[in-house]
Amino acid sequence: MKTFFHGALLLFLAAPAALAQRPIRYEISFPNAVHHEAEVTITFPDLPARPLEVRMSRSSPGRYALHEFAKNVYAVRAVDGRGRTLEVTRPDPYGWTVAGHDGTVAFSYTLFADRADGTYSGIDATHAHLNIPATFAWARGLEDRPITISFRPPEGSEWRIATQLAPTDDPHTFTAPDLQYFLDSPVEMSDHLVREWTVPSGGKRYTIRLALHHAGTEAEADAYVEMAKKVVAEQIAVFGELPDFEYGTYTFIADYLPWVAGDGMEHRNSTILTSTRPLATAALANLGTLAHEFFHVWNTERLRARSLEPFDFERANMSEALWLGEGFTNYYDDLTVHRAGIIDLDEYARSIGGVVDAIVNSPGRRFFSPIEMSMQAPFVDAATSVDPTNRANTFISYYTWGSGIGLGLDLTLRTRFRGVTLDDFMRELWRAHGKPERPYTMDDVVAALARVTKDRAFAEDFFRRYIAGREVVDYGALLAHAGLLLRKANPGKATIGAATIRYDDGQATIVSPTLIGTPLYDAGLDRGDRILRIAGRPVTSAQDLEAALAGRKPGESVAIEFEQRGRTRTATLTLAEDPRLEIVTFERAGRPVTSEIRKFREAWLGSRQGVKASDR
Ligand SMILES: [Zn+2]
Repeated sequence: MKTFFHGALLLFLAAPAALAQRPIRYEISFPNAVHHEAEVTITFPDLPARPLEVRMSRSSPGRYALHEFAKNVYAVRAVDGRGRTLEVTRPDPYGWTVAGHDGTVAFSYTLFADRADGTYSGIDATHAHLNIPATFAWARGLEDRPITISFRPPEGSEWRIATQLAPTDDPHTFTAPDLQYFLDSPVEMSDHLVREWTVPSGGKRYTIRLALHHAGTEAEADAYVEMAKKVVAEQIAVFGELPDFEYGTYTFIADYLPWVAGDGMEHRNSTILTSTRPLATAALANLGTLAHEFFHVWNTERLRARSLEPFDFERANMSEALWLGEGFTNYYDDLTVHRAGIIDLDEYARSIGGVVDAIVNSPGRRFFSPIEMSMQAPFVDAATSVDPTNRANTFISYYTWGSGIGLGLDLTLRTRFRGVTLDDFMRELWRAHGKPERPYTMDDVVAALARVTKDRAFAEDFFRRYIAGREVVDYGALLAHAGLLLRKANPGKATIGAATIRYDDGQATIVSPTLIGTPLYDAGLDRGDRILRIAGRPVTSAQDLEAALAGRKPGESVAIEFEQRGRTRTATLTLAEDPRLEIVTFERAGRPVTSEIRKFREAWLGSRQGVKASDR
C-alpha cells in the first residue's frame, strides 16, 4: 500500500508508447454465480524468457493470519500469445509455474467464493463481493506493472461496480498503478444504492460515497448517511484534515444482508463493511464499524508501523504495533460516535466499562504485554485451527487492551499536562509519520509522545510500564476527573467463576476453558467436565446453580461433585466475589457533578468540530 504512485505509473501515463511493458490485463465473469463461481483470465504480456511464477496470496492487508486463498482455485489452464496450451506445474500449494511461453501467458481458472466479508469473496445471484487477494492470482517479479481489469456482470443483471480502483471511460473497466494497490482494492458488484457527499480539506474537495447493498429502505439509508457524515466530521476534527485520497474519492462498501459474514476491513481509499444485521435494527452497531474503519484512513493506512511495510502477501505479517493501529482506532471509534452526539454518556460509560473490565480482570495480562499481544495476531486474527488454544487465559485482544491504553493515556495527558490531549498526540504522529508516509517504530512513538508532552521521562515511563510492560493505569482515579465511577458491578455476590456452562438434557457441561484464578479453575475443573452437585444440590440448570449459591458469601467453601474424563470426583470450591467492573456516571451513582467535571467532560467528550488548536 505504500508503493502507491511510484515511478511505474507516472512513466506509463506520460509516455505509454515508450514503455515496452503493457499492463497486466484481468477479466472476471460470472456464468455460474448461483453456485458461487467466477471465471478469471489474467493476461501477462511482455514477459522475460523464463518460467512465469503465478501465485495466490496467503494473506490480505489488514488481516494478520494466513488464509491460503489458493484452496478455492481450480480448472487452471494457460495458453501463450498464439493460443498454444502451456504446461502448468505446482511448485507448492500456493502457486503454479508456467514454462515454455512466447512472452505472453493467458492464465485462467475457476474461483469458488461463498463468504462475503472483509477477507474473503462472496459470489451469488445478488452480488460479487470481491476481496482481491481472495480472488485474483498474480505473478512474481511483475509487482510494479500497472493493471487493467474488466468486470463482466451476469447477463441481464443490474450490477454496478463500487471500488477504489481508478475508473476509466468504460464503467466496467478500472486500473491500478501496481499490484500493491490492486490487492488493496476490494470490489462490490451488485444492484446497490450510492449516496455521496463532499468534504473540503487542505484546499481540495473530496468525495465520500457510501455504496450500500442491503434489503432495507432508502429512508434507512439516508438516516444512516446523516450519522456517517457526523462521525466523519468528528474524525477529521481529530487530525485537522483528511488524507489526500487518490482519485479524490473515498468509498464505504457496505453489505448489510443475512447471507454475508460480519466484518469490517480498512483499505487505503475504501472499506468493506459487512453485517448480517439490517439498518432497521442495528444502525448503531453498524455505524460503530464504519467509524472504526474510517479512522483507519489515518491510523494504519498512512500512519503505518514499519513492521508492516511493505505488506507481504506470501506470509503472515507480524507487528508489535497493533495496540496502536487497532487499539487506538477502537478507542476513537466509540469516542467520535459519542462526540458526534449519536450515543449518550451512559452508553459511552458502558462501552469503556467493558474495556476496563476486560483488561483488569483477564488473566492474559500475566503472560504478555500489549506489544506481545500484538505479535499474537497471526494466531488470532480470523485464524482458525482444529486444536484448542489456551487464549481465554493467555490472550487479551490488542483491540481491547490498546483501546484501554488510549483511554488511559488520554485521561493521563488531560489531567497531568495542561492543554495536551490524545488528539494532540495523534496529530503529532500524523504530522511526523502519517502524512509523509514515513513508517514508524516503537522508538518513534515514544519520541512523538515526548514531543507533545515536552517530557521525555514521562513518555519513556508510560511506554515502559503500560505498553512494553503489563501494568494498567489507575482508571478509577483518572475517570473520576470526568465524573465517571469505576466500581464492582455485583459487589458481595459469590461466584464460581465466569465459565460458559451448557445445560442440555439435565446435564451441566462446562464448554469454555476455566479461567486462572477463578474458583472452578482452582478446584481443578476444565472444559468438558460435567458439574453434578454443588453443596449437595444437583445442578441441571442455571436456576439450580443460582439456588446453590443463593445466600452464600465470597470466601465460603462448598463441595463440588463433577465428572471429568469418565471419573466422578469431588473437590472444594472456594467462592469468590464476582470481579466484574462497570463504569457509571456520577449522576447515576448519586455523586455531585461539579463545574470542573462538566468542563473536563466538554473538552474530552464534546464535539471537536470548529474548536481552534489553541483552545483544544
Ligand atoms: Zn481495525
